[in-house]
Amino acid sequence: MLWRRRQDPEISPEVIDAVMRRNVGIAARLAPDDRERLRLLTAELVSTKSWEGVSGLSITDEMKVTIAANAAIPILAHDTWPYRQVKAIIVRPSSTTSNSRRSGPAAGTYTNETVDIVGEAVPNFGPVALSWDTVVYESRHPHHGNNVVIHEFAHKIDMNDGYADGVPPLRGAFLDGWREVLNDEFERTEARESDAVLRPYAFSSPAEFFAVSSEVFFCRPAELNEAKPVLYAALRELYAQDPARWRPASVG
Ligand SMILES: [Zn+2]
Repeated sequence: MLWRRRQDPEISPEVIDAVMRRNVGIAARLAPDDRERLRLLTAELVSTKSWEGVSGLSITDEMKVTIAANAAIPILAHDTWPYRQVKAIIVRPSSTTSNSRRSGPAAGTYTNETVDIVGEAVPNFGPVALSWDTVVYESRHPHHGNNVVIHEFAHKIDMNDGYADGVPPLRGAFLDGWREVLNDEFERTEARESDAVLRPYAFSSPAEFFAVSSEVFFCRPAELNEAKPVLYAALRELYAQDPARWRPASVG
């Protein structure tokens, strides 16, 4: 029996462009070819993932496009394969407080203390959960260096091989080289106890180091390149992108 899932009407390129202009600060920094690629990947993620609003939130095209566009940034030089295990994206209106303890290193929550959870990446075929208020604020202000969508989707890229170990199985990437840089930078910077570009949460595990440095790589590339050129170069190889050469960010 042929079973077709319900098709939502497709979101037009004009709507995607308008939402990107309003909400996705990084999109404005991309060259026209990359922006077109971002639009295509965004449309694909919007139409192939399942989207769900919870806690009274009814999900809108604006939310889907904003989240999908940020998720598409790390895979601009790839395709959507790294997100093949992301079946659903769950969106709640604002952060929730949780004191649930999760097993294993970096199960995807920001910490396992009692904290405001603004995002979560559940391993294997589990969903990505995000708080809309944080998503849209950070997406509009990339120069702050935080981006919960890039963070959680970096975890999903990392988990693609079944391990949240900070070593993402990206095709064509020289992972032994990345592993070396990761261990080096993680241990060396952690020993210094403070760091100008990576927030302390990066040093809770190699998986969080990868997720946080991915945020900074795309949101504050010039600063990361200046402070940590070896880390920047390794991420540039991994993602096959060079965001420090994008147009300068407009500060807003
Ligand atoms: Zn994390």
